This record gives sequence, structure tokens and C-alpha cells, in this order.
Amino acid sequence: RLLAASGLYLTEPVGYTDQPDFINAAALLETELEPLELLHALQAVEKEFGRRREIPKGPRTLDLDLLLYDDIVTDGPELTLPHPEMSQRRFVLAPLADIAPELEHPLSSLTVKEMLDGCGDDFSAVKFDK
Ligand code: AMP
Repeated sequence: RLLAASGLYLTEPVGYTDQPDFINAAALLETELEPLELLHALQAVEKEFGRRREIPKGPRTLDLDLLLYDDIVTDGPELTLPHPEMSQRRFVLAPLADIAPELEHPLSSLTVKEMLDGCGDDFSAVKFDK
């Protein structure tokens, strides 16, 4: 069940920069799926949308990441929670702050808003709807 959805953000590519901007968004879901089941469900949606990616960190049709799941901390072969790069990426934190500014990272205890305020990444993330 979809509890909240952020606006859409036009974001500068990080890493491999010779590509167009991305569109990023965040959603808050309620689910009975376990974390790994949810990851697999997200991967099925990526596949359904014809996900293609030829270059690592390059252009892609759709990329769904699991950022946080309750306070679960795990580092398995398929799934790392919280998502390891979320706290340094403006393109993640800006949309997430739209819907869950007070949500705490289970390892640092920082809120999403605090992580966004302290985010050192200078890549732009500009909201273009709502
Ligand atoms: P990417 O498409 O670059 O997001 O990477 C997908 C790969 O990351 C998949 O093989 C997943 O098993 C793995 N992965 C590990 N942790 C996560 C996570 N929290 N969310 C999404 N994918 C993850």
C-alpha cells in the first residue's frame, strides 16, 4: 500500500556524468513482504518496465532501490539495509525528505532532514512538479 509519494526531482548524474539528468522520487510503502521478498518484487517491476543498462551507473530505464525497512540493518549477498549510499546522495535524500523528514537512519540515528542538511554532495536535485 502506498502511504506517501514524493514529488519528482531532476537530478544531475553522479559517477558517470556523460549522460542526461535522472528523474528521482521516493515512496513510503506498507507491506507484508519480508525485505528480500520486497526487493524481488521491486526487481520484477524493473523487469516489467523493460529495464536496460549497458554501462555501470549509466543511463537506465528504471532503477528501484530499497532505502530503509523499519530499523532493519543487514548486509547479505543480495540486500544491504539501509541502502549503503543513501546518506551521501542528494538525489536520494531530497525526495525522501519530502515524505519522511523525521525518519531516522538506524545506524547513525540522524533524521533524513539532518542527513540532507549535512549532505556534502554538490550535485543538483531540483523538484519540477508539485
Ligand atoms: P542497482 O541496480 O545498481 O541498484 O543494484 C542492484 C543490485 O544491488 C542488486 O543485485 C541487489 O541485489 C543489490 N542490492 C543490495 N542492497 C540493495 C538495496 N537496498 N536496494 C536495491 N538493491 C540492492
